[in-house]
Amino acid sequence: MTFEASERVAGVPPSGIRRFFEIAEEYDDIISLGVGEPDFAPPWAARDAAIASLERGQTSYTANRGMAELRERIASFADRRYGLRYDPDEEVLVTSGASEAVDLAFRAFLDPGDTVAVAQPCYISYAPGVQFAGADVLDVPTRAADEFKLTREALESSGAADADVLVMCYPNNPTGATMTREELKPVAEFAREHDLLVFSDEIYSELSYEHDHASIAALPGMRERTVVFNGFSKAYAMTGLRLGYALAPPEAIETMNRIHQYTMLSAPTTAQHAAVEALDSCDDEVREMRDQYDRRRNFVLSRFEEMGIDCFPAAGAFYAFPECPWDDSDEFAEALIEDQRVAVVPGNVFGAGGEGHLRVSYATSLGDLKEAMARIESFIG
Ligand code: PMP
Repeated sequence: MTFEASERVAGVPPSGIRRFFEIAEEYDDIISLGVGEPDFAPPWAARDAAIASLERGQTSYTANRGMAELRERIASFADRRYGLRYDPDEEVLVTSGASEAVDLAFRAFLDPGDTVAVAQPCYISYAPGVQFAGADVLDVPTRAADEFKLTREALESSGAADADVLVMCYPNNPTGATMTREELKPVAEFAREHDLLVFSDEIYSELSYEHDHASIAALPGMRERTVVFNGFSKAYAMTGLRLGYALAPPEAIETMNRIHQYTMLSAPTTAQHAAVEALDSCDDEVREMRDQYDRRRNFVLSRFEEMGIDCFPAAGAFYAFPECPWDDSDEFAEALIEDQRVAVVPGNVFGAGGEGHLRVSYATSLGDLKEAMARIESFIG
């Protein structure tokens, strides 16, 4: 036996995003619009709660499914904000980041030969996760012409009717697209008609600027076939604390927990204490961060418009997804770093429908954004 990668691992290419971070790391005067994480620190109340829990020595494992008081707050938050009713004891699983919840769902429900329709462009971890679970990915490209929303036509023309699971993410990374309740209806109808499970990544749910976030699980007949992923990384700027959760019917949570209890035991305890406080008392800070992202969003979109670069009006998360001024977005992104020390991510790394675009993150200060946009303007002449 050697350390040769297993077939499942060997079949997954290294992350395209990493390559750009490696290039960016070669320079020390880079303005990075490449990152997918908040530039804020978590609200102080949440940090204080984490510190206080450490001072009390609360560093043991928690219940596998997460602390009861956290599950209760998650359930009441989901109800209050999105009209999602979940039982804290049976229908909530606290995980090490939304990432763990996504991975658990793939491993819990997929068998070799199953097909997972993945709406794209999308977060880079879904396809590898499906492959690690031994199943196959079906690309479902969305289009700039549809503002990167998932449509019934896109599902039909890509053959998703024969898939077993649909993976979707709104507000979306990398496009910044959002979907209203009305726009989700045909997707829900399609899932019901073709008996698809839906894995809905709603990690950016608190960052929806034009309308209230709508969850597909809140539509009629969807709760019983949907797993919702969410977490604390984006809204509360808690990426490194690694805390997320899944909401799903009891039998789904039970199955996911069967893996979680052996592979993770429980999500980080200190982070769970921070999260209880975040849900209890940090609505104002979340709103303040959202307002700042929104101001930056408007700035970035208006600057692209001034430059004559086509950019659909991204309404969520913290990304704009403009058209790339060059044919090859890889070449453009590399040249932009080398020439102007501005890092953006080429759209092709996010899967089908991404080529020809750039992901521009505005999770960075308005001052840096102003300078970066000026450099992009001078680069494209
Ligand atoms: N889903 C999406 C769409 C993301 O952008 C990210 C983080 N970049 C994650 C999931 C992972 O979140 P977490 O930090 O909670 O694992």
